[in-house]
Amino acid sequence: MSQLRVWKRIVGVEHTVITGVDVEGDGLDERVVVRVRPTRSRQGRCSQCGRRCRGYDRGGGRRRWGAVDLGAVIVELEADAPRVRCVAHGVVVAQVPWARAGARFTYAFEDTCAWLAARTAASTVAELLRVTWRTVTGIVERVVADALGGADLLDGVTRVGIDEIAHRKGHRYLTAVTDHDTGRLIWAAPGRDQATVEAFFDALGPARAARITHVSADGAEWIHAAVRAKAPQATVCLDAFHVVQWATKALDQVRRTLGNDLRQAGAHEAAAGLKGSRWALVKNPEDLTPLQRRTLAGLAKTNHGIYRAYLIKEQLRATFAAKGDHGRQLLAGVISWAARSRLEPLVKLARTLKRYKPLIDNTLTHGLSNARSEATNVHLRVLTRRSYGFHSPEALIAMAMLTRGGLCPNLPGRAK
Ligand SMILES: [Zn+2]
Repeated sequence: MSQLRVWKRIVGVEHTVITGVDVEGDGLDERVVVRVRPTRSRQGRCSQCGRRCRGYDRGGGRRRWGAVDLGAVIVELEADAPRVRCVAHGVVVAQVPWARAGARFTYAFEDTCAWLAARTAASTVAELLRVTWRTVTGIVERVVADALGGADLLDGVTRVGIDEIAHRKGHRYLTAVTDHDTGRLIWAAPGRDQATVEAFFDALGPARAARITHVSADGAEWIHAAVRAKAPQATVCLDAFHVVQWATKALDQVRRTLGNDLRQAGAHEAAAGLKGSRWALVKNPEDLTPLQRRTLAGLAKTNHGIYRAYLIKEQLRATFAAKGDHGRQLLAGVISWAARSRLEPLVKLARTLKRYKPLIDNTLTHGLSNARSEATNVHLRVLTRRSYGFHSPEALIAMAMLTRGGLCPNLPGRAK
């Protein structure tokens, strides 16, 4: 094998001819520069559509693309970047077989970057690949757009979940829309008000908005108002995980009030024990550790109020697992039980549940997959925390598509 063909294998490019290899710079700045050009059949094509075109001019002359490091050494590809005139896209830079349109990095580099970004901390990816986080999010957007191949995420959507997500330490909010059938995040925009939700329906357009059958959300009136205005035919359901969250919060309040009472009465040890019970109370029973099980059993014996609140929260959870008529019976039971509990936060919970009962009944009747929307919701919160923040909602959507939309590329040269 000739040396240049060896280099072609090393940098992992196809439909590409290597014309020379040099080492440039020194010290930390040292880099291998691989000079390339597309094979004849790949020359003179539009970078938007791949069509063969007439040449236009030399464009910006020689250009470079960052490639994956070779061991510890920086590698760059260098080539001409002529422009062509496409009948559909006008004057554009010619396509190159080693990089996506508009990219400053090779396919192998971008796929590696996206693969890492889906799995590890933003700062790690940025440092390892010698790029900024902003560059990483730009790469992720390009990789996802490429994998979608121009498909419109809003096509064929009938059941959606609308939710608000706090990011940047709760100072800013996004409204996020997920597709209940695929579990994918399909739309997001800054803000949490009726106008933002209406912007989603405007993006759908009247024809697709008319085909929406179900919208799930939390109790936020501004979401419901937008649905009434833009998709009045849709059945509104309350997301089960939000409803269970209300009960968890009420339970937490009962626990805190009891803890304060104990401390004021001088029972510090009992108060400390109660504080340690928080996770035993909020976790799903099937996820409890043996120690947490014992904590819970202890509470059952000593603190009747808090154990009652726990059982009410668990019955509410069971309501959504049961669904249908059985679910509705359980819900009615939860409401009357909480109303008679003589625990302030639970009496309040009973009132809230009563107020939203028609919408909760919708959830129980139509059985929207709670697991999926909750998983997507939790995942988005993790994403906004894990990174340096996203400069645009599109960047966050792209990252969510990469990690939960099944669009993450394989590592270069690997089947999986
Ligand atoms: Zn074109």
